[in-house]
Amino acid sequence: MATIDLNRLIKRYGHTTVVHGIDLSVRDGEFVVLVGPSGCGKSTTLRMIAGLEEISGGEIRIDGRVVNDLQPKDRNIAMVFQNYAIYPHMTVADNIAFGLYRSNLSKSEKRQRVEQAAETLGLSQLLDRRPSALSGGQRQRVAIGRAMVRDPAAFLFDEPLSNLDAQLRTQMRIEIKRLHHRLGTTSVFVTHDQVEAMTMADRIVVMRDGRILQVGTPLELYENP
Ligand code: ADP
Ligand code: ADP
Repeated sequence: MATIDLNRLIKRYGHTTVVHGIDLSVRDGEFVVLVGPSGCGKSTTLRMIAGLEEISGGEIRIDGRVVNDLQPKDRNIAMVFQNYAIYPHMTVADNIAFGLYRSNLSKSEKRQRVEQAAETLGLSQLLDRRPSALSGGQRQRVAIGRAMVRDPAAFLFDEPLSNLDAQLRTQMRIEIKRLHHRLGTTSVFVTHDQVEAMTMADRIVVMRDGRILQVGTPLELYENP
């Protein structure tokens, strides 16, 4: 579990500012969705939280501790990507276990974590398969499994459903929310899809041009668009 605080967070590429000093506090166990049109800075914000992108100004705190200078692996958070980022030559088990690459856990502990994640995600029967023998939804679950085995304090989702067809997208929305209810892990979910935001979020953060336009529950934003 974790809180995430962004204080006056800034990102510049050269002379162009793409995130203009945003403030946001994500509460412990909350599911926050960042929504807005393509190019408004959602992914950059998420990547800064993950430590995959250097910040140009301001501060990021996880559980109250400033993480500005911490490596991604030391932030205790895990990212789930859009394009699955899974390896075709590796089995499901190895793909999930890759989340523990560089961890100091013993082999048997790793195996146990992989099996636990697979069970939670309904992948137990598929551990020896290669990704080519999986459906799109199963592949997406493998990507989530890789994040889960690290037992992170928070999940960061970068448009994880945008490559799926409409039916699968709806199903995975429900699955991800069910997982969230079960694990209670603080989550920040990025999407350009308003329906996704409205149906998944505890709280929605609407971004435009590198700024936060509005913050509210789905009901608040529905009643006050
Ligand atoms: P979103 O996730 O909302 O689609 P991004 O965070 O990906 O938006 O991008 C925000 C802005 O930053 C865009 O204008 C994009 O072109 C720009 N940008 C992203 N990455 C880079 C980069 N490596 N160099 C220069 N500009 C970038
Ligand atoms: P490796 O030497 O392959 O890196 P690790 O030290 O990473 O081994 O230990 C975890 C290994 O256990 C992974 O290779 C992973 O694929 C494997 N593993 C975990 N759970 C299972 C399982 N249920 N079935 C098969 N292999 C598993």
